[in-house]
Amino acid sequence: MASFDKANKAGCNMSQNDRSIDCSVVVPLYNEGLVVEELYERLTRTMGETGLDYELIFVEDGSTDNTLEKLKDIASNTSLLQKATRAWYKNQPLSSLAATSSVSEELLAAVIHSAVKPFLTTHAEALISLVNQEQWRRGYCPICGGKPDFAFLDKERGARWLLCSRCDAQWLFQRLQCPYCGTQDQNALAYFTDEEELHLYRLYVCEQCHTYIKAIDLRRVEREVFLPLERVMTLDMDKQGQEKGYRPGWTNLIV
Ligand SMILES: [Zn+2]
Ligand SMILES: [Zn+2]
Repeated sequence: MASFDKANKAGCNMSQNDRSIDCSVVVPLYNEGLVVEELYERLTRTMGETGLDYELIFVEDGSTDNTLEKLKDIASNTSLLQKATRAWYKNQPLSSLAATSSVSEELLAAVIHSAVKPFLTTHAEALISLVNQEQWRRGYCPICGGKPDFAFLDKERGARWLLCSRCDAQWLFQRLQCPYCGTQDQNALAYFTDEEELHLYRLYVCEQCHTYIKAIDLRRVEREVFLPLERVMTLDMDKQGQEKGYRPGWTNLIV
């Protein structure tokens, strides 16, 4: 069976002419149906750790067992993940793709989010200073186009900022506008505050699109606040919001 070391020596292509692929791993296969899935998983894991842009080329040498069928299964799953990642990025539903892969939509979205998030947050950190905060003021992220899932009122003037559910970028937004449907109708907008924590947290709700977004008022807190962590610290607010008949505005999935 071909190992990574063997394939690496045989197939790595560091040519300057091909800038899109750093490395091609060529694996000849003959009657390897019992092990080809494990081989694929190990190769994918090992090559992923190298940080190289790579391709895996399996050469099926006329096997008489089910090697070819196994390879087709592997190939279709890979393209499924690519399709699912694209759909997730465009905020499209993953339900039909999840059904064909026999995993739940929530799990598929969570796996994609976990895999992509480190790249998005790195981009956001590098690019956010280029955003003109006074001009942007839209309901979606200026870096990745994601929807906000948390908000805060800043210490200086109580202005409301939104936090991107995907890349953690922060951007300035109107105090009295729904970030999801955009309404500025004062009669459709309201917020609840907590009694126990001296109105530290707010649950903004919109009667027009029946969504909610959680917020923290930084003017009322002395401790260090790590906003991405506040999402998790306030899961009880998600429960309260949904019990009141609102849904999270950034996702159709269960929070
Ligand atoms: Zn974003
Ligand atoms: Zn709304």
